[in-house]
This record gives sequence, C-alpha cells and structure tokens, in this order.
Amino acid sequence: MIVYFETLGCSRNQVDSEIMLGKLAAAGHTPTRDPACAEVIVVNTCSFISAAADEAVDTILDMAQYKQQGTCRRLIITGCLAQRYKDDPDLTGTLPEVDAFVGTGACEQIVDVVEKKASVPLTLFPDPDTRGFQNLFVDRVLSGDPFAFVKVSEGCNRHCTYCIIPTLRGRQRSRPMEDIWVEALTLVKKGVSEIILTAENTTDYGQDLGNDTDFCQVLENLSSQVAAVNPDVWIRFLYTHPVSVTQKTIHTVKNHNNICSYYDVPIQHADTTMLRRMGRPYTQKDLYDLFSMIRDIDPDAVLRTTVIIGFPGETDAMFTTLLDFIQEVKFDHLGVFTYSDASDLVSHALQNHVPQDVAQLRHDTLMAAQEKISEQINQKHVGRMYPVLVEENPEPGLFIGRTMFQAPEVDGVTFIYSEGLATGAFVQVKITDAFAYDIAGEVADGRFANRPSPTADENMKLPGSGHE
Ligand code: SF4
Repeated sequence: MIVYFETLGCSRNQVDSEIMLGKLAAAGHTPTRDPACAEVIVVNTCSFISAAADEAVDTILDMAQYKQQGTCRRLIITGCLAQRYKDDPDLTGTLPEVDAFVGTGACEQIVDVVEKKASVPLTLFPDPDTRGFQNLFVDRVLSGDPFAFVKVSEGCNRHCTYCIIPTLRGRQRSRPMEDIWVEALTLVKKGVSEIILTAENTTDYGQDLGNDTDFCQVLENLSSQVAAVNPDVWIRFLYTHPVSVTQKTIHTVKNHNNICSYYDVPIQHADTTMLRRMGRPYTQKDLYDLFSMIRDIDPDAVLRTTVIIGFPGETDAMFTTLLDFIQEVKFDHLGVFTYSDASDLVSHALQNHVPQDVAQLRHDTLMAAQEKISEQINQKHVGRMYPVLVEENPEPGLFIGRTMFQAPEVDGVTFIYSEGLATGAFVQVKITDAFAYDIAGEVADGRFANRPSPTADENMKLPGSGHE
C-alpha cells in the first residue's frame, strides 16, 4: 500500500508518525509525501487545546476528499483527538469518512490497522499506560529536517488542572537510557545534525524508575557518545519542568559544549495564587530563584518559557504580576497561549472564567512587551559570530538557519546572505542585522561542515532492517 501521514501537534506526535511510518515501510508498504497518490491516509492528530481539535477535524475532512477524488481507500485517525473522544458514542457517526480510529496506545499495531486484518475493529483504544517503547530495529522514516526529536519518556505524572495529556498519554514511563543513546547515535550516523530530546517533562526523566537514574545521566552519556561520532552535532532538550531543573542539570549542560545552553521552562504563570489554581507546584519566588540560578551558573544560558493567559480566576492584578515578571526576567523567547476551556478539564469547574476579549487583550499586551524585549536581546548579537545550522535555501543568495539559541519551529531564525551552502551543514556566521524575532548575517569564514543531512527521498526509500 502507498501510505501518506499528516502529522499535527507536538514533537511527540512527530516521533510517533516517524515510528509508525517506519513500521509500515518495514512491512513492505511505501511512504509517500503526496496525499493525492496515497491508498491509505493517516492523520496523526492533536487535541491539547480546542483550537488543535478544530484543526484536526478540518484536516480529516480535507484528507477525506481524497477518498472521493484520489486513490485513497482507507482514512485512519490516530493520536490525541481519537484518544480524547474514544468514549464518545457519536465518534464514528460524527466522522463517517474515517475507516479506523486508533488511540495513543496502539501505534505498534498500525500495520494491522492499515492492512485491515479482520481481527482489527473500527476503533482501537488500548490503555495508553500499556504502550511499550519503540523497537530500535525498525528505522523511523524521518521528515528530512537536519534535526530529529528523540523521546526520553512517555506520559506524565503531574496534574495541571488545565491539561488533558495524562489522560491521553498515560502515566510517565521513562525509556531505558541505552535505547535513547542507541537511537540518537543511529540518527547521527544517518547525518542528523541536531538531536532534540523531548517528552511531556524531559527533566522528570527517571522519577518513575524507583532508583537514582536522572536526566543528567542521559545528557552526560549522550554528550560524550555523540561527540565521539561527530563533535559538531548539537544536543538540545525541550519541555523541562521548573521543579526538576536542578543545579546539577545546569552544571551538566555548562560542562558539555555540544549541549545547547537552552532552557525551555514552561512556567504557565508567575502569580502564586494562579499557579496554585493551575496545579503548578511552585511559587513566584521559586521561579525567580530558578532563573537567577541558571544565569549565575551559566551567564550565556538562553531562556524560553510559555504562559497561559485568561485562566479562570485571573484578575487584572494577577495579569500585571505576570507582565512585571516577564519584563523583569527578560526571556529570550516567550510563547503566550490563551486559556482553552473544555468540559473534561479540572479547571472547567473553577469560578470566574475570563471573557475571551479580556484574555485576548492581555495576550496582545504581553506579546507587545515581549517583542521589545526580544528585539533588545537580538540587538546584542550584532557583530558577534555564531555557528549556524543551515536548514533552508528559500531563494538564491539567501539561506535560513538556526543558532544554538534558536529552537526549531518555535523561535526566530538566522538569515544568511550567501551562496552554495549545504543544508544540514554548520557555518560560522557574523551577525550584521537584528529584528524583533530574527537575526541576519554573513558567512564569517570558509569553514563548511559539508555533511549533507538525509534528504526526504532518501528516507522515503528506507527502511530496511536494523541499527548498527
Ligand atoms: S506537566 Fe502538566 S501541562 Fe505538562 S503534560 Fe503534565 S499535566 Fe500536562
């Protein structure tokens, strides 16, 4: 069968799609990038917030058109939207175009679902806690980007009142450390230039193992093993939790050149009463102490955070507390979300829901403040030189890349005025211009790490068996 995957949502979903495509390719099916020539279309969905659920339904309806017009004979829905509405009696009736609904715990059974083995019912929702870890002998089909995500754990043991993820992805299960290293090294040997560790909470790694295994061990060993294969390759980790970023974490990062001093620490708010209502187990003082500790130990550290605006009970005073905090700490990168209510959230039952227009005004006020901060920080890069990972070549004479202080898909980029660079290569760039979110510059010297990253087509023709 020719199979097309449309992936929505977070990096964990991206990895799941690459794993499922790898399994299908290993079973003899052919991945394609063109839905118009697919016999089977899989939409791997997200439903973290209502906007994501709406996008998922729109995408499903778009893909369903290929059943009328194209060669598509089977439309399959996987991921969090399917899981979230698994008990909804109208699920199949609401989307009659869909041939199978597969929960987050059933990625391993994707081949049976695609091959429609008689034993497979229309809906498949095993308990997410029962989902095992991926089989390392089956190559993922990568997206072709010079970076690749690597999961360190599944699920989450925390109970934030606005979040449905523990219900959708199950309890935290940390992967065997060796599996993380083996997978990362396999990717590096395939030409990947940046390994990005991901999870619901990367720094909570090991807390469910009942021994003293922790995230620093993952980082420490991964850093030396990757450097032994290719010292240029970057290691980044995203989605930490404020209470599990420790002094040890910061020293581990500081002591390894190939680990990005990049701290993605979602705080969600900075008003202590608000944090309590959100189920976040820290105070405003804890946050001040954390970010001071990071900057004291590692002055070059880059800080990213995300916050939720308009959470039930948020007053003007609480919003001002958050605004003051953001203007004082001066994050390099900030993501701002307005609260997304839903009846299956604990927070739904809280009093004093904030009107949408008030929440939107607060959102815009905070974004405007951050834009100034971001531009001031970017101005400091002018005249400096940084290694940049080349990612795109949108037009002759212009390349787009990222520095160690720019994460993919969420942060600004670096524009490089040059010719003949290779995507996936690292070049030294002297920064000449700075904008609100992006920077720009010229190649500083002739040093090219001309190591092309795996092209999408190369990956598509994969897989085959095993890792080295
Ligand atoms: S830490 Fe909180 S927000 Fe993050 S996945 Fe867990 S419950 Fe959701």
